[in-house]
Amino acid sequence: MLFSIVTRGSLPRFLVTCLACGALLGGPVVFPLPHRAAAKVRSGLSALESQLLAAPAPERARQTLRTLTAKPHLAGTPEDYATALYVRDELQRAGFDVELVEYEVYLPRPKSRRVEMTAPTKYRCTLTEPTLPDDPDSASPLAVPTFAAWSPSAKVEAPVVYVNYGLPRDYEVLEKLGVSVQGKIALVRYGECYRGVKAQVAQEKGAVGLLVYSDPKDDGYVQGKTYPDGPWRTDNCVQRGSYRAFTQPPGDPLTPGRPAKKGTSRLAPKDAGLPRIPIQPLSYRDALPILESLRGPAAPKDWIGGLPIEYRIGNGETRVRMALTMDYRLRTIWNVIGTLTGRDHPDEWILLGNHRDAWVYGAVDPSSGTTAMLEVARAFGELRKTGWQPRRTIKLCSWDAEEYGLIGSTEWVEEHLTELREKAVCYLNVDSAVSGDNFRASAVPSLWSFTKSVLQDVPDASGTRSLYDNWRAQDQKASEVRFGKLGSGSDYAPFLQLAGIACLDMASTGSYGVYHSTYDSFRWMEKFGDPTFSRHAAMARGWALLAFRLAESPRIELNLLDYAREIERLARELAQEHPQLDATALLDAARDLTIAAEAFETEPDTQATLAIRNRLRRQFEGFLLAPEGLPKRYDARHVVYAPGVFSGYGAEVFSGVRYALTRNDAADVARAMEQIVTALKKATRTLQGQPSGKKDTQPVRKGVL
Ligand SMILES: [Zn+2]
Repeated sequence: MLFSIVTRGSLPRFLVTCLACGALLGGPVVFPLPHRAAAKVRSGLSALESQLLAAPAPERARQTLRTLTAKPHLAGTPEDYATALYVRDELQRAGFDVELVEYEVYLPRPKSRRVEMTAPTKYRCTLTEPTLPDDPDSASPLAVPTFAAWSPSAKVEAPVVYVNYGLPRDYEVLEKLGVSVQGKIALVRYGECYRGVKAQVAQEKGAVGLLVYSDPKDDGYVQGKTYPDGPWRTDNCVQRGSYRAFTQPPGDPLTPGRPAKKGTSRLAPKDAGLPRIPIQPLSYRDALPILESLRGPAAPKDWIGGLPIEYRIGNGETRVRMALTMDYRLRTIWNVIGTLTGRDHPDEWILLGNHRDAWVYGAVDPSSGTTAMLEVARAFGELRKTGWQPRRTIKLCSWDAEEYGLIGSTEWVEEHLTELREKAVCYLNVDSAVSGDNFRASAVPSLWSFTKSVLQDVPDASGTRSLYDNWRAQDQKASEVRFGKLGSGSDYAPFLQLAGIACLDMASTGSYGVYHSTYDSFRWMEKFGDPTFSRHAAMARGWALLAFRLAESPRIELNLLDYAREIERLARELAQEHPQLDATALLDAARDLTIAAEAFETEPDTQATLAIRNRLRRQFEGFLLAPEGLPKRYDARHVVYAPGVFSGYGAEVFSGVRYALTRNDAADVARAMEQIVTALKKATRTLQGQPSGKKDTQPVRKGVL
């Protein structure tokens, strides 16, 4: 059900006059937030910026989240389509031109699932998340049953082996104990890495099935009170999720490298590299009887979880039967793209994105992000009413089927690849916007200085400090906030890895144990994540001001010297970690890039050079891609940052080299080093070759500097 937008009073007359001529007001203005924030953030905001920051409204965010989480909205369902229409209508109402973009993609849903222990005792797993009286939403029959996306339909019965997190190092421990998973069902716990890694490694080791359970030590009662008394995972709570390997091509598995439009030619599913062994996630209630029955060697100390049992590896006596039937078919998904066209530079795009599909309700993941994005849209809508139009184009993107493996965003990037490489300035992602009060951001280094400066101007939820101070306060010992490195696990990945676009990802995090379960609900958010919805409003303020300044600043706010210095630091780190590696060429190339970037950043922008220098800033990220992809990878082209093969979500620096080193593949080490050096040299040459003082052919508006 839709609700009406809270409307605000019209702008004072003097402001409208100033806006009509397109100029920003420079002087300090009164900060119009209705709380104590005014004194605590830097002054010097323009009137438009003040208006933008005043727009996000907690109560309206609450209503938005309630609307988005009224029903489960798994990708490709009628309920998902309803959320797409809602987002479309809200963006239109805020003055955006909106496009609903459809793709036809291959998606599984569970038809029937049966997991039972057949020996030494019998136990049939419930595989259900029961209704909680405290949370009426947990009763919905529309919630997709607990399942592992991309598991095949299969029946197996085999002995069970406990393999800790299911990482390669865990299998090495097993080998030393003389235990193999060949022909057996691996039982592993969630955590430490992307779940797809667990499936890939289990399959490679010869397991015939995989059970993945949530141990209370990782996100249950060992961490704190469980839902509904606390924010952590209850005994019946199951983590759904995608088990597709990151090393496979991203997006729709049947149309790698091209958009999954109706009528497009498709691979046969058997050729799509999907997992071949049956996989089922379990709650710790269902895992307990199986774990408890395991005999054989005691599990190593660091394999012991939080259940009140002796953790053992198994001796073949415990047997489990898995019978899974999946319903695989082509299904329609819907991205929603809203555009505010730039007044001066319509072909320079500032992209903001968040996914909309959820495993069930996804109050945190991703609906808090969708809520924040709609508040950003409404804030820009307020500015639009004054006649304002951004200098550059701003696009708000609502992605579908992210949970199945970044599918909606990847298909869109594939469809617009050439245009994106030409026009995109940066992509600002917010997925699970709010699960608590701790702000954090990950970004490529060219966005670091700018982002820090913007966040100092944005009040956090308390209104007594900035988002920057909130972030800073989490690590008192550090001299500065530390940006996370971008790996994968959300929709920025195709923008960074396929299109070579500068990316940022933000979240406000906290104790959150209901991830990918039915209990990631509106009730959970109201009780634990953000009772006043002021964190949603704070996230919207930060996101909106970043986008506004990126769109309005004459100079594109990407600092190439910050990037070059960080690459040089990372290169030295790699050389120190691997003294056997001949890193001379890499260190030299990184040094040359820093020198070139220093010269570039020292030179001032002039009216004659601004357009061409902005183009360089925009395209810099793309220089860091290896067009052919990193060795033995389909998912990663970025020579500096890529998802780690064995971490999945976590970024690995110079991943091509590191992955080849773990395989002792000297040829691939050399190839990966060559890729990095080639990319850095190309970036250096382009920076050095940029003309200075030469008249640019592109028109530059008077007075932009
Ligand atoms: Zn998400």
